[in-house]
Amino acid sequence: MTAGKRLPPLEGENGRLYFNFNVGAKYVVYELGGTTVFEITNCYYRNGIEYYDITRDGVLNRTPFSGNRLSYLLKFKCLEQIEPGTPQELPLLIDEVKLYYAKKYDAYKTAKNAALAALKNTKYAEVEKAVKALYAPIAFAELQGDGIRANELRAQLNALEEKRLEILKKTKVDLSLFEERKYNCQRCRDFGTVDGIICDCVYSNVDDIKAFSAAQRIAERAKRSRN
Ligand SMILES: [Zn+2]
Repeated sequence: MTAGKRLPPLEGENGRLYFNFNVGAKYVVYELGGTTVFEITNCYYRNGIEYYDITRDGVLNRTPFSGNRLSYLLKFKCLEQIEPGTPQELPLLIDEVKLYYAKKYDAYKTAKNAALAALKNTKYAEVEKAVKALYAPIAFAELQGDGIRANELRAQLNALEEKRLEILKKTKVDLSLFEERKYNCQRCRDFGTVDGIICDCVYSNVDDIKAFSAAQRIAERAKRSRN
């Protein structure tokens, strides 16, 4: 028996990952000198291993079968499959989560670099520098109670800000790329995992991540068949 070796999940035509055996599937199995009807009543995934609850002639087996064990048994002892059962998609995998968020971050970085490149031939850097240079003098004027000077400087600041926005608009750059990055989740900082565990915030996004992972697999498949 291939103990310790993990049974890889099934990859569907749609790019999604499935358990190797269907829940509700029934098999006539030859064992102990006779035949029994095996039924898969449940499946779950732990540490990369598939497990199945099995009934023998309707009686639940005390311990679940690993995917490997079930595969071995059906390969050598199954006489006939009498019910197809229903395919079960694998739960969200940590590798899927990691890839999804890494690609998202890449997209952000690429967009930001493209934006910076677009701004290179404009006066953006110069204007931004001038804006920043005004912060301290405004604060100083306010501290000294010099309202006239403070207002004067603030007017300069507003004019520069307008110019900055104008440049951004002209170059059609996404303004939000230049704001401080706001994280939807403070715990994982939008990386999807914390200490090697899937962050709670991810579970509201499972469908998206599954669809993304499936699309990635289909793309990989297409690449492989081209080579
Ligand atoms: Zn999170």
